Amino acid sequence: MYIPFNKPFIPWFRLGHLFRATLSGRIAGNGDYTKKCHRFFEERFGFNKVLMTTSCSDALEMSALLCRIEPGDEVIMPSFTFMSTANAFLIRGARIVFADTLPDLPNIDPFEIEKLITPKTRVIVVVHYSGLACDMDRVMEIATRHGLLVVEDAAHAIDSFYRGRPLGSIGHFGTFSFHETKNLNAGEGGLLMVNREEFEKRAEIIWEKGTNRAAFYRGEIDKYGWVDIGSSYLPSDMVAAFLYTQLVRFDKIQTRRKKVWWSYFQLLKPLEEKGLLMRPLIPDFATINGNIFYITVNTAETRDELLTFLKSKGITALFHYLPLHSSPYFRDKHDGRSLPNSDRFSSTILRLPFYNSLGKNRIKLVVRSINDFFLTQTAGSSRLTTRFQGGN
Ligand SMILES: *Cc1c(COP(=O)(O)O)cnc(C)c1O
Repeated sequence: MYIPFNKPFIPWFRLGHLFRATLSGRIAGNGDYTKKCHRFFEERFGFNKVLMTTSCSDALEMSALLCRIEPGDEVIMPSFTFMSTANAFLIRGARIVFADTLPDLPNIDPFEIEKLITPKTRVIVVVHYSGLACDMDRVMEIATRHGLLVVEDAAHAIDSFYRGRPLGSIGHFGTFSFHETKNLNAGEGGLLMVNREEFEKRAEIIWEKGTNRAAFYRGEIDKYGWVDIGSSYLPSDMVAAFLYTQLVRFDKIQTRRKKVWWSYFQLLKPLEEKGLLMRPLIPDFATINGNIFYITVNTAETRDELLTFLKSKGITALFHYLPLHSSPYFRDKHDGRSLPNSDRFSSTILRLPFYNSLGKNRIKLVVRSINDFFLTQTAGSSRLTTRFQGGN
């Protein structure tokens, strides 16, 4: 049996929305479906203001523009993340300062953030890995004390919460991704959350190529023009219509995905109890949102062997995030600090197949295969025990 890593969910019976968008004759950006999507997110999660973008990468770039990043400004972010988190600020000339993650959760360590702040620091970017929240009270407290802005890269984190508050709504800006591997998929797409009123107007201008066209369409001004820098960050209304096919069944999607998540979590418990792997740690202030399911194993070799073993059984598991501080592009620019927790997560994390239609039998098969792997390992070598003891 072949179990892929991801299968984008296509709600066939709702694709009528795409025809309706086409027939409306207005399929450029900021059309009816874009507005419907905006309304959904603002009403459902109480976001102050949202803007659909062509990707989460673009939403991050918009945040960098809104933070008025200038060459030489310093931005602190985790090394254990996707390169878009860093690119968005690098494009504006920022100096990226990578912080290590916590030892038991692949999220940025607030204690490390504090140590890295200098007079040049402008922004802290946090990433809620796999939808599990960073300790936002601590992050916001540090930011307020030093007068810094906070961007939440919430690419994984739609419908997840920190002490009851939706992720993406707590920092000054938040960003979601609707890439086909995420909970909601528009093929490519994203969302910017503008969480403070003072940024709303400029956000809309940057979104519309530096013009005040959005205000013009609302009839607030009688002609529009070029008033600031910006780009074309708004997606076609076709993209919004496609996303909308999933928004109308948002609860069903989420119920399904959370069920997959909890199935893995329960079925993997015995292996964790034997000390063979670790399941995700859920902090008491966080929730899960059925984004991805990851495990960590004890050594890099075990991880790579397990990946190969699963592949031989037709199961596609993946590793995640080569740390950005040691990537070919960045390693010469990094200040040389070692980031041991990021390195360890990077070499020991394994993401299991995850999609809406992943049924219980297949989940059981994945877990059984992981079990088989460890059985062959312990049967096959005492070499392994030595290695465990030899490591830290
Ligand atoms: C997926 C992802 C992004 C980029 O999302 P796109 O919509 O593909 O641009 C950014 N940050 C993180 C943490 C991601 O996982």
